[in-house]
Amino acid sequence: MAAGGIFEGLQGQLEWQRSLYEHFHRHPELSLQEHATAERIEQELTELGLAPRRVGGTGVVAVLENGTGPTVLARADTDALPVTEATGLPYASETPGVMHACAHDMHIVALLGAARLLHEHRDAWSGTYIALFQPGEETAAGARAMLDDGLVAQLPRPDVALAQHVMATEAGVIGTTAGPVLSAGDSLRITVHGRGAHGSMPHNAVDPVVLAASIVLRLQGIVSREVPPGAFAVVTVGASNAGSKSNIIPDRAELLLNLRTYDARIRELVIGAIERIVRAECQASGCPREPELEYYDQFPLTANDAAVDRRVTDAFTAHFGADRVVRTDPVTASEDFSRIPDAFGVPYAYWFVGSTPREALAGGGPVPANHSPSFAPAVDPTLETATRAHAVAALAHFGTDARTDTEEQP
Ligand code: ZN
Ligand code: ZN
Repeated sequence: MAAGGIFEGLQGQLEWQRSLYEHFHRHPELSLQEHATAERIEQELTELGLAPRRVGGTGVVAVLENGTGPTVLARADTDALPVTEATGLPYASETPGVMHACAHDMHIVALLGAARLLHEHRDAWSGTYIALFQPGEETAAGARAMLDDGLVAQLPRPDVALAQHVMATEAGVIGTTAGPVLSAGDSLRITVHGRGAHGSMPHNAVDPVVLAASIVLRLQGIVSREVPPGAFAVVTVGASNAGSKSNIIPDRAELLLNLRTYDARIRELVIGAIERIVRAECQASGCPREPELEYYDQFPLTANDAAVDRRVTDAFTAHFGADRVVRTDPVTASEDFSRIPDAFGVPYAYWFVGSTPREALAGGGPVPANHSPSFAPAVDPTLETATRAHAVAALAHFGTDARTDTEEQP
């Protein structure tokens, strides 16, 4: 069979994929609670003739061994969000307060579709394909759970890893980039300790409200005054909590910070500046105790390997046409995918698949995007594009050219 013939069966399997997509969208599950989702993924893989296994609780992997050649690992995340769906879709979430608002349901079905294409056309390529369904992306806990469960020892070592994300950009268009594509993300809980007093007697207090306010303002100088112009960093104070009553000066205040960076050195610089400012402001206020700084919800940097990005981008351009592949700026969101290739010490590429019809974007106004209760990816052509993208990117590494079967051909 000609290499490109692999896509001949796609139209026939899209109905299966559409109904699976609606199923997963109707039945979203929160991070690390993807039990029914994992069971359904296992069931579908088993029916395809693959032998899935669980790793890390609700993680699922299937290894397609198909002769000599490179090993390609492709990953989809599977969790949903604590969001109440407001799309009004006929297949909207049936679980109150939980929604696939980040399109991970689309990721699941695209990867199942690519695995099916590769499995049914094993004569068109040679190598090993690993389909990996990762739970718990939204809380940055899922990749780690799979690794802690011995993922590296349980799989053949991949030569390359691939992942994609559906975004609210133009439907049917793929965005790729070399280098940083998603930021590193860190959350930080800062507790400062003052001395409480009656609200009428501030001279008896070390006021943590004034101290926290001073810290919040001083932190604004990190990005504007310390990070080199041209480098990227975000320092956001997302919560500031202290006190309960107008006439009581509390004894502590808590700040919750969120940091985003594209460069490990800039991240170190920002973290060093935050810790220096917090400690110095506490000293300036005469705090009776040292502040506490606790990091949580930490996401690694996602930075594409230049050679892998080139290979994948060239394959997308050949398959979809140049008008459907764009270079994209990095996005300030974060992901835990890179933990998996990093654990194997292998390069990776991560790309975006648009899901909003051009007409909806034409007005220039805001459109519902990831994490919005109204985010509703256009199933056509997003599902087909995302399925083809996973298969094309894998075939590019198996040395099989998908160019001979573009979508324009019957
Ligand atoms: Zn998300
Ligand atoms: Zn997501």
